[in-house]
Amino acid sequence: MDARGLAGLLAPVLPARGVITDPTQLRTYSCDGLALYKVTPALVVIPETAEQVAAVVRACAEHDIPFVARGSGTGLSGGALPHADGVLIVLSRMRAVLEIDRANQRAVVEPGVINLQLSALTRPEGYYFAPDPSSQQVCSIGGNVAENSGGAHCLKYGFTTGHVAGLELVTPAGELITLGGKAPDAPGYDLLGVVCGSEGTLGVATRVTVRLTRTPEAVETLLAGFPDTDSAGRAVSAVISAGVVPAAIEMMDALAIEAAEAAVACGYPQGAGAVLIVELDGPAAEVRHQFEQVTGMCEAAGATEIRIAADDAQRALFWKGRKSAFAAVGRISPDYIVQDGVIPRTALGPALRRIEQLASERGVRVANVFHAGDGNLHPLVLFDDAVPGEAERAEDVSGAIIDLCIELGGSITGEHGVGSDKAKHMPKMFTEDDLDTMQLLRCAFDPTSISNPGKIFPTPRLCGEVPRRAHAADGAHPLVEAGLADAF
Ligand SMILES: Cc1cc2nc3c(=O)[nH]c(=O)nc-3n(C[C@H](O)[C@H](O)[C@H](O)COP(=O)(O)OP(=O)(O)OC[C@H]3O[C@@H](n4cnc5c(N)ncnc54)[C@H](O)[C@@H]3O)c2cc1C
Repeated sequence: MDARGLAGLLAPVLPARGVITDPTQLRTYSCDGLALYKVTPALVVIPETAEQVAAVVRACAEHDIPFVARGSGTGLSGGALPHADGVLIVLSRMRAVLEIDRANQRAVVEPGVINLQLSALTRPEGYYFAPDPSSQQVCSIGGNVAENSGGAHCLKYGFTTGHVAGLELVTPAGELITLGGKAPDAPGYDLLGVVCGSEGTLGVATRVTVRLTRTPEAVETLLAGFPDTDSAGRAVSAVISAGVVPAAIEMMDALAIEAAEAAVACGYPQGAGAVLIVELDGPAAEVRHQFEQVTGMCEAAGATEIRIAADDAQRALFWKGRKSAFAAVGRISPDYIVQDGVIPRTALGPALRRIEQLASERGVRVANVFHAGDGNLHPLVLFDDAVPGEAERAEDVSGAIIDLCIELGGSITGEHGVGSDKAKHMPKMFTEDDLDTMQLLRCAFDPTSISNPGKIFPTPRLCGEVPRRAHAADGAHPLVEAGLADAF
């Protein structure tokens, strides 16, 4: 049976509006936030309960049909790109907040709950969900877990994995299992940590127990304009090396400022070559003291203008330009690639200069907007698809930026995941043995490779497909030889 054939089989299991076979409707699910790649799924299902998800996955397992989980489809690495012969499991109707447990500072949510809604719901009680991707108005908690998403405030609070205490997961065999829970730690391997960031390749999360963070007593935010990114970078280094840990330090260069102004008129300092948004939070006395230090450091690094948010409305305006920067770039360029790579933050200056050089050599523009505090770059490579050759040049620059991140001791992705987009770069960072080991782990969950195949790992290296080591002159993988793994 193929994936289309499953529609009839699943109809009695799912709600009537939960099985989509109409070709036009199927096409609306053909990509995530990385619209460069498009694949129409064979079948879309929209379950409303964990048991329904499990039934879909069991049917897929029985008929060896690949499936892909999808939250809100805002991923930027093609992680939720459908499989042409597979089932797309859309979790957007599983949006219940099942429990808010103040005593344990935990909430239990379904995977389709929207990131910002969870914070909105818990803030009146003095809590919020700390990971805050710029897409937080629309992205789902399940997607955050699968991507181990970050955000502006992850410099101080850490990535999603630090805020997930437990998961209910439908394994690729269709079994419902629980990993972790409300207790702070559990014996045995950290399988919860393995699933966080596994991009939907180990199963489908159907329930997430998250840690809630207490809202801070005080928050102070400043916006500083600098003549260039070098001077702004000096301020970042000064702040971090002084031992101050801001909740966020975000940088935008001149082109990113131009785009944000055109889109949302955020009123950033005119003529600035770079702006920094620095936010401090915590006990009021500590925030006051550190804020004075940070202001002094920005002045010493050459800030031409420093504004301090007088209230929440002004703070929101400072953030508005930054949070809408990706979409804003559409105002100054018909097409663009959002790149995501990370470097040691001490290498910010050389990295930005090299990016500028790469862009001018190839005749494209790059706007930089990024989490400066943790060295997480988001260069936006602008191009016009209507100009012959420009898309290729932009792709070329985008790939060269990834090579640069590796050269500087960083990584091919900071927070947007590997997905379909960056699988080809994995061998640049990892040896064959590293990739084999990751695959063996994946095979322990998904021996027939039906859960989001084709993502993360460069093909043909999927379990069940062309087992490289079995034919290699140097023999089988040691684990296979020892009879401990046989699917690879
Ligand atoms: C404008 C914009 C700004 C962004 N800013 C940030 C940012 O600051 N930081 C950041 O980290 N990311 C950012 N992103 C990327 C994206 O929003 C995040 O990766 C987000 O976590 C994806 O959530 P989603 O619900 O849209 O997931 P989707 O795109 O639907 O899926 C993402 C991946 O998760 C898997 N998945 C989804 N749900 C489940 C589930 N329940 N179980 C198992 N696997 C699942 C999918 O298979 C896929 O591999 C941004 C995106 C946009 C468009």
